[in-house]
Amino acid sequence: MRDYEAERKRMVESQLRGRGICDPRVLAAMEKVPRHRFLPDPDDAAAHGDHPLSIGSGQTISQPYMVALMTECLHLAGTERVLEIGTGSGYQAAILAELSGRVVTVERLASLADGARQVLADLGYANVEVEVGDGSFGWPDNAPYDRIIVTAAAPEIAEPWTDQLADRGRLVAPLGDRGGQTLTVVTKRAGKLRHENLCGCVFVPLVGEHGWQEN
Ligand code: SAM
Repeated sequence: MRDYEAERKRMVESQLRGRGICDPRVLAAMEKVPRHRFLPDPDDAAAHGDHPLSIGSGQTISQPYMVALMTECLHLAGTERVLEIGTGSGYQAAILAELSGRVVTVERLASLADGARQVLADLGYANVEVEVGDGSFGWPDNAPYDRIIVTAAAPEIAEPWTDQLADRGRLVAPLGDRGGQTLTVVTKRAGKLRHENLCGCVFVPLVGEHGWQEN
C-alpha cells in the first residue's frame, strides 16, 4: 500500500523546508492536505513531484514549492477572508482553507470548478466557496478581502483586485507576459499600493477581460 503521508513528509522536507519555506503553519498544512486527491488520477506516481502537473483542459496544479511560497507570502494568521483567482484542482484553496477563516475561489472553467468543489466537500472543507466566472473581475459579492492570491499569469494587477483588497491587505500574483512572469506581492496601506518582486515563475495565462484572450 502506498504511504501518501510519508510522501508528503518527504515533499515538505526536501522541496519546502530545504528551500527556505519556514512558516510552521504553512509547512503543517502542506503536510496535512492530501495533494493526490486533487489530481485527475490520485494514484499518479508523480503526485508529490517537484513540478506542476496536468489537471486536464490544458491547466495545471502548481508545483508544491510555488503553492507554499505564495501561501507564505500571504502572512495568514487564521481569520482572514481570502480570494483566490484560478481554482484549478482546488488544492491551493484547501491549503488556504487550513490557514484562514474563509476562502472564495473563482474558476473560469466550470468542469474544473465542479471537480474542485466535489473534492473540497469530500474532504470536509466547509469554509470554501467555489465560484465560476472571470476572476479578472475579482469576486465583488464578498469583497473586501484581506488577502488575494492569483494563480494564473496576469499582464498586470487588475484594478478590481486592488479595489476589492481591504486596507492592510496583501495580494500575490504572477505578473508579466504569457511566457514568463515575476511573482509579485502587493500590499495596501491607507489606499496606497506597494509592489515587491520576489522571483521568476511560469503560470498558465489568466484568460479574461483583464487578462489575455483565449489564444
Ligand atoms: N490554484 C490551482 C490549483 O491549486 O490547482 C492551480 C491554478 S492553474 C495554474 C490556473 C487556473 O486559472 C486554471 O484552472 C485556469 O482555468 C484558471 N483561470 C484562467 N483564467 C481565469 C480567469 N479569468 N478567472 C478564473 N480562473 C481563471
